[in-house]
Amino acid sequence: MSTKVKAYGTSSTENPLEEITIERRTVQAHDVEFEILYCGICHSDLHQIKGDFGAFPPPIVPGHEMVGRVTAVGNHVTKFKIGDLAAVGCIVDSCGHCEYCEDGIEQFCDEGVTFSFNSEDKISGGHTFGGFSKTYVCNEKYVLKMPAFEDLASAAPLLCAGITVYSPLKHWGAGPSKKVGVLGIGGLGHLAIKIAKAMGAEVVVFTTSPNKVEDAKRLGADEAVLSSDAEAMAKYSRQLHFIIDTVSAKHDVNVYLNLLRHDGTVVLVGLPPEPLEIGAFNVIMGRRSFAGSNIGGIAETQEMLDFCFEHNITAESEIIPIDYVNTAFERLEKGDVKYRFVIDMASL
Ligand code: NAP
Ligand code: ZN
Repeated sequence: MSTKVKAYGTSSTENPLEEITIERRTVQAHDVEFEILYCGICHSDLHQIKGDFGAFPPPIVPGHEMVGRVTAVGNHVTKFKIGDLAAVGCIVDSCGHCEYCEDGIEQFCDEGVTFSFNSEDKISGGHTFGGFSKTYVCNEKYVLKMPAFEDLASAAPLLCAGITVYSPLKHWGAGPSKKVGVLGIGGLGHLAIKIAKAMGAEVVVFTTSPNKVEDAKRLGADEAVLSSDAEAMAKYSRQLHFIIDTVSAKHDVNVYLNLLRHDGTVVLVGLPPEPLEIGAFNVIMGRRSFAGSNIGGIAETQEMLDFCFEHNITAESEIIPIDYVNTAFERLEKGDVKYRFVIDMASL
């Protein structure tokens, strides 16, 4: 059983997104249905509609930074009632019994996690459609309690961008007496500045965009460096404990490995489609690490939302109507957004 829902999607990498109708499963005993109020646009949405990660079964409806209000609950739902604020990020299902799920790191589920869009839906048998749509339905286990942020629209990007930087910042111990680098000031990077500062770290930003150098300081960075300025870069040689790399395209990570102190780590969260190369000496000298991190588990996502609410952290967003979405993707590709597009879903 399913319900027809208005959405925005495309059937091919060649075609722009347009209004379409999708089928959502009807609410099951443990499901929550919510009306989507706001949905952020992540660079991963762009990678996927461009086919950077391979072909997809059509149609694709992107969107995995959803905030909404509950409109229906299944008989066995205990966490939510109609009218509550609710939010969904990247994860909407996992096996629930492997060691990773039991440890609350569902993003690494042994049987493969179900993402909120463009993933096989084990319950309906079809594939999942994201948040560029009127409503969403999923098991309450994967629905977050959305704190009452004053600017709810700007809080939507926390659901992916926020957790993707919060999780590694916490894991690698960003905090007082730690010098943390943030590489790439886009949706993820600008939230990494705010979250790392709130954790008590000293933050240095590395950007390719001259116009973001001053802006990074407004966002809370202690220092900001234009990465093409070799002299300025040289000052940071062997200075940083940890660098979070949010760059979406191929780039030279060796430059940043050399900015690490001994035992320091560069953590890649960006998803350049092409492989990156690492020179052996850049890791063996100083016992440095090059690591990666993928979003965060459900419990940690809730913790991050509560942390951001307490510290008054939301994204700097440009709120757009749904029919602007194709232009928004073009601008995101050119790096022309400060710093996250958020769709007001009332416009659909
Ligand atoms: P975004 O808003 O487009 O920001 C990416 C930033 O990277 C740009 O603002 C730019 O910053 C920098 N950049 C872009 N192209 C570059 C190049 N050729 N060389 C150097 N720097 C470049 O994207 P986002 O939404 O923050 O996402 C960033 C990446 O993270 C994407 O690849 C996305 O798919 C990935 N992601 C991963 C996860 C995960 O779980 N690991 C989750 C969400 C997103 P400057 O202008 O400051 O240089
Ligand atoms: Zn994302």
